[in-house]
Amino acid sequence: MTTIAFIGLGHMGLPMARNLLKAGFNLKVFDLVQAAMDQLAGEGALAAVSAIEAVQGAQVVVSMLPASRHVEGLYLGANGLFAALKPGTLVLECSTIAPEAARNVHAAARERGIQLLDAPVSGGTAGAAAGTLTFMIGGQAETLAKAQPFFQAMGKNIFHAGPDGAGQVAKVCNNQVLAVQMIATAEAMAMGVANGLEPAVLAEIMRQSSGGNWTLEKYNPWPGVMANTPASNGYSGGFMAELMTKDLGLAQEAAQASGSSTPMGALALQLYRLLLKQGKGKQDFSVVQQLFVE
Ligand code: NAD
Repeated sequence: MTTIAFIGLGHMGLPMARNLLKAGFNLKVFDLVQAAMDQLAGEGALAAVSAIEAVQGAQVVVSMLPASRHVEGLYLGANGLFAALKPGTLVLECSTIAPEAARNVHAAARERGIQLLDAPVSGGTAGAAAGTLTFMIGGQAETLAKAQPFFQAMGKNIFHAGPDGAGQVAKVCNNQVLAVQMIATAEAMAMGVANGLEPAVLAEIMRQSSGGNWTLEKYNPWPGVMANTPASNGYSGGFMAELMTKDLGLAQEAAQASGSSTPMGALALQLYRLLLKQGKGKQDFSVVQQLFVE
C-alpha cells in the first residue's frame, strides 16, 4: 500500500489528509501545529516530528501550505525535502502560490528526478471535507496519470490546466473572480437590507436570478442567511482574508507580467488590504461584508 506524507494540516490540509486516510492509504503527517497532527494521529495517521521524517519511506508527498515562501522553504535548499526525496517520488503541491515560484519548484524537482505537479484547489473547506475539490493541475500529463488515484480521493473535478505553473495561473484567475463576486454580493446585501429588505429574502431572490453566483449559492456573507457558513459562525473557519489578499496580489503580478487589464481585481485587492488594516486578516474572506455595514 502506498505511503503518503502530508505536510500542512490547516483549514484545507486536515480534511484533505483525512480523505486520503479514508481511502486506505498509509499516511504520515507533519504540521508546525501539534494539535492538528494529534487529530489525525487519533484516526490512524502517523505524526512525524519533522517534514524530513514524514517523507521517509513515502512514495507520494502532498503539501498544503499558506504561500510561496513556505513552499520554497519546504522543498528547496540544502535542508529542503528535495535533497531528501528519492528520485521517482511523486509530489503533489496543492498550495496556492505564485506561478513563478511553482515553476522554480518544478525545475528543482526535475533536476532531482522527482515528479511534481502544481495542483491548487477550489471548493473551500466544505469541498475539502466532502472530497469534492476541484484540482487545477500544471505539469506533465504522464505524472498526472500516475497521480489520479490520490487526486480522486480528495476531489471531484481534476483538470490538466497545462505545463508547469499552469495550475497556479488558473487558480489566481478563479480567485480573482471569487473575490469580485464576494464583494459585489456583500455590497448588494448591505444596500438591500439598508433599504428595508429581509436579508434571507434578498439573498434567495438574487440566487435564483441573474445576479446568482457561487457566493450566493454556497457562501453568503450576511450572518444568519445560510447555515454552516463562516458568516454564520462569526466569520471563523473557511478561507482567511489574508490568504485571499495574497491571491489577489498574485493575480495582479500575473496581470503585470502579461500586460493584462484587470481593474476589478485591482480594486478587490485594495478592499481586502483595507480589511487587513482593520485587523480582520485571520477571519474568513466573507468578512468583507463588514466594510459595507455600520
Ligand atoms: P492554513 O493557514 O489554515 O493552513 C496552513 C498550514 O500550514 C498551517 O496549519 C500551518 O501550521 C502549516 N505550515 C506552515 N508552514 C509549514 C511548514 N514549513 N511545515 C509544516 N506545516 C507548515 O491555510 P489553508 O486555509 O489551509 O490554506 C492552505 C493553502 O490552500 C493556501 O495556499 C490557500 O491559499 C489555499 N486554499 C485555501 C482555501 C480555503 O478555503 N481555506 C481554498 C482553496 C485554496
